[in-house]
Amino acid sequence: MSARSGIVLSAFERYRALVDDWAAFAAAVVRPQPHALRANRLRVAPEELRGRLEARGFRLAPYPWAPEVMRVEGGPCPPGSTFEHWLGLFYLQEAAAAVPVVALDPQPGERILDLSAAPGGKSTQIAERVGPSGLVVANEADPARAGWLLANLGRMGVASAVVTVCDGRRFPAGLAFDRALVDAPCSGEGNVRRDPRPRRPPRADRLRRLASLQEALLRRALALVRPGGVVVYSTCTFAPEEDEAVVDAVLRAAGGAVEAEPLPQALPGVEGAGGWDGVAFLPEVRRARRIYPHHLDSGGMFLARLRLRAPVPWAEEATPPPEEAPDEAAGREVRAWMEESFGIPAEAFEGLHVYRSGERTWLSTLPRLPLWPERWAAGLPLAHWTGRHWWPSGFALHRVGRLARRQVVDLEPAALRALLEGQAVPPGPPHASGPAGEPLRRGLVIVRYAGAGLGLARYDGDLLHAAFARERARQLLGCLEQPGGMPR
Ligand code: SAM
Repeated sequence: MSARSGIVLSAFERYRALVDDWAAFAAAVVRPQPHALRANRLRVAPEELRGRLEARGFRLAPYPWAPEVMRVEGGPCPPGSTFEHWLGLFYLQEAAAAVPVVALDPQPGERILDLSAAPGGKSTQIAERVGPSGLVVANEADPARAGWLLANLGRMGVASAVVTVCDGRRFPAGLAFDRALVDAPCSGEGNVRRDPRPRRPPRADRLRRLASLQEALLRRALALVRPGGVVVYSTCTFAPEEDEAVVDAVLRAAGGAVEAEPLPQALPGVEGAGGWDGVAFLPEVRRARRIYPHHLDSGGMFLARLRLRAPVPWAEEATPPPEEAPDEAAGREVRAWMEESFGIPAEAFEGLHVYRSGERTWLSTLPRLPLWPERWAAGLPLAHWTGRHWWPSGFALHRVGRLARRQVVDLEPAALRALLEGQAVPPGPPHASGPAGEPLRRGLVIVRYAGAGLGLARYDGDLLHAAFARERARQLLGCLEQPGGMPR
């Protein structure tokens, strides 16, 4: 064993008696972690994505318990630097991190709360499972992290989510969710392979603080789901103080209103600890699952699935939140502007409703949305009003830009790269399917690549100038610079 391996392992020595195979655990935690990805079934069939990436030299192996989750066994560049990732055809998610939502088992049309959601790996996974008629409420306490959450939901094209920003311990009651996920803030020991700095076991006072926050979040989630509903509690840490002990304390406080359910055998991992530090947990706590890095050659995870038999003693009476209806007038206006400006037909918005808050409009698959003061986003950003005209979001263009029939240019990699680097580039011929002979007008133009709408440029009558969101342009340039990053 190297000196570095010894330092990393010593932080986990206290779990030796819990771990099913210490030698395999010890070998895994000091090995680099392979990438894994989850195909976004809102956008692409997993097999199609696999074919597309394998044609460029990636090697992918689906996991049997969720074939949309695939281990990346090799490839010409990091999978996060591909056009498919940029476009939201997949989410880079550790295999172990995909298991809690599989255990939550969201069903089409259900209302699901993700109480501590940023950066959104699990919210986007839930959205795909509930489909267009389900509602995902993705909540996050930290406004900066809520920005990432919004960006990931947008990139993945999720139009069935609302984002709220509040302390999950005080999330407003009244909606009676079908299921909730508490993917709790934790000491993160299971991420050791991604962050292999020497570490110490978490200090007792930190563990106490985290456990108290985790318990409060779990209790809140249980007060927010309907009787018969399900709550999955998960962390990415090995510490039983943050895992089984939290579940045990909440089950005891619930006095029989909540039961820990067995998880499907097909899911990876080993049963929960029976006790810790001389204290025995309730026998049903063993139904939880511990996933160690050697189980999936991934990170570490803990999860427990709880079923609400009756309202928990701490649930309060509450009236449902007010409901908001789509803004039909704003919807007509933006759709007409998109048709007039880019020839995007009204059918592109079929099954989608337009909501407006101030200068911003959103696309949602839902005909009504809960309206909490804590709400930040009402779906997929559609367009905002600049004072003179609408400005469509890049995420909306990913969805509808392929249908544009005018003011659209399809660029080759070299021209796209030059544009993103800040150069003015000639537009090339207007798109062939545009109205015959209609030349580009000065003004906004949709830029496409490989048939997908990427973002906007301004045409000055001679040359195109990029008008992409800066960070998105930087990321796309990164894909263009990688061998195998772009489809040709
Ligand atoms: N589920 C996310 C995913 O899969 O991408 C990861 C969630 S991360 C483990 C925990 C999140 O909880 C962090 O983004 C953190 O900012 C947030 N958080 C911390 N305290 C919170 C609180 N009191 N209420 C809600 N969220 C909180």
